[in-house]
Amino acid sequence: MQTYLEQAKMFTVDVVTTPPAGADMASFAPKFSDYAAVVIVSEGAEWPAPTRAAFVDYMKNSGGLVAVHDTNNAFPYWPEWNEMIGVSGWGFKADGNIGARDKTWGPMIRWRDDQMVLDSTTPGNATHPPRHDFLVTTRTPDNPIMRGLPATWLKASDEIYGRLRGPAKNVTVLATTKPDRAKYPPHANGENEPMLMTISYGTGRIFHTTFGHVN
Ligand SMILES: [Zn+2]
Repeated sequence: MQTYLEQAKMFTVDVVTTPPAGADMASFAPKFSDYAAVVIVSEGAEWPAPTRAAFVDYMKNSGGLVAVHDTNNAFPYWPEWNEMIGVSGWGFKADGNIGARDKTWGPMIRWRDDQMVLDSTTPGNATHPPRHDFLVTTRTPDNPIMRGLPATWLKASDEIYGRLRGPAKNVTVLATTKPDRAKYPPHANGENEPMLMTISYGTGRIFHTTFGHVN
C-alpha cells in the first residue's frame, strides 16, 4: 500500500504497526489528527479504548478512512467502527473463533433496478468464492474515485466478498459484481454485491474497498 501511494506522488506516507497479537496494545496511539486520511490494513486485535475514542473523534471531525479488504472484518464489537464501515463480514468472536458478524448484524446492501437496496430478509452470513478474475460494474461513474474506469472492468484474481452486513447507513455504492451462480453456487445468490463504497460519518469520509486479498 505504501509503495502504491508513494508512486502516485500525491501523498506522504507514514506507517504504523500495532503490537503483535497477544501483546499489550496500550502503546498503540497514533496521532490520527496529523493526517488527511488513515489507510487501515488490519484484522487484528481491538485497539485500546482511548485510541478508539480518538479515532471516532478524528472521523466525526472531517477525518478520512480507507478500509482495505479484510479490514472490514476487524472490530466486530465496536459499534462506531461498524457504522464507519457500513457493511462487513466475519470478525473474531470472544472465544477466538471467526464468524462474529451474523444475520443479526444488520441488512445486506443490494443493487436492484439501478439503485441501492437494503436487504434484511435474505438469510446467510458473509462468504466468498475462491480467488478468480471477475467483471466489476461501475454504479456511480460521476464519483471522482471512479473517474477513468469503464462501465465494466476486469478485476484480476481476488475474493468476491458477499452477504456483508452492518448498519449500512450513509453508504454510496460505487461498484458491484455478481458472482457466477453456476461456478460458485454456495457463494452466489444472483445478487449484485457491493465491492467499492463510500460512507459518510459525521463530516468524515470513508472509502471502503472489499478488494485486496494478496497472500
Ligand atoms: Zn481475503
